[in-house]
Amino acid sequence: MLKAELHAHINADPHHLKNINYSAFQLIDEAVKQNFNILAITCHDCVYEDKSAEEYAKKKGILLIKGIERTIEGKHVLIYNIFNREAQKIHTFEELKQFKQNHSKILVIAPHPFHWTPVCLKNKVIRYVELFDAWEYSWYYTYGINPNQKTVRLAQQFHKPIVGCSDVHRIENLGKTYTLIDAEPTINSVFAAIKENRVKVVTKPLSWIKFAVIVAYILKAIVGEMTSTHSISESDSPFLSSQKNLKIEDIFSLCEFR
Ligand SMILES: [Zn+2]
Ligand SMILES: [Zn+2]
Repeated sequence: MLKAELHAHINADPHHLKNINYSAFQLIDEAVKQNFNILAITCHDCVYEDKSAEEYAKKKGILLIKGIERTIEGKHVLIYNIFNREAQKIHTFEELKQFKQNHSKILVIAPHPFHWTPVCLKNKVIRYVELFDAWEYSWYYTYGINPNQKTVRLAQQFHKPIVGCSDVHRIENLGKTYTLIDAEPTINSVFAAIKENRVKVVTKPLSWIKFAVIVAYILKAIVGEMTSTHSISESDSPFLSSQKNLKIEDIFSLCEFR
């Protein structure tokens, strides 16, 4: 079985230029330490296409898969094995549907479909059920508070495979939740195994303390945004990215699942 993290952000992520402090190479090193075989870098709205990182990973025995966490109609969608110039043309679910029909080698995963933030797919994951090859079991949950339960229940109903991911925004979160895949270490074999449900999620709930710290972090950002007399910018809040005129949903997006 191959050990895989399919959802990770790095410091080249345009949404997180200021608040992610590790590079693709550092993430690869950490993945090697933890005996991962497969790693997908999925920056927000940008495909990281660095050949040297791919080569570096290969030398270290890791298959690096290029992907993107694309915002489509305001919702996050993970797309793999796609070029940046192709991904930039996809803005709607209908466009993604058409692209997928013409590009059978891509893989599409629904990240954190039933979590709380406005960027989560919720009913869209059912409405476009054919579009998604698998749904994600997100690392962000704790004892008694677990939106992944709904994901599992509905995924079974709709016969969708489930993969586990840590939506890595901090390097120490790599390995919290991951997927074991019964495949050869090639993109084709890995994608086929996911589509055929030859996968196993390895996960455990976050401690209450860790969960509460993240909630507090998000609430602090929201309160800051509501009480601010002007638009939030990076000078107001060091963890926010350099985006200007942030709205509540942007803050959710920036803070999500750390
Ligand atoms: Zn997301
Ligand atoms: Zn993410």
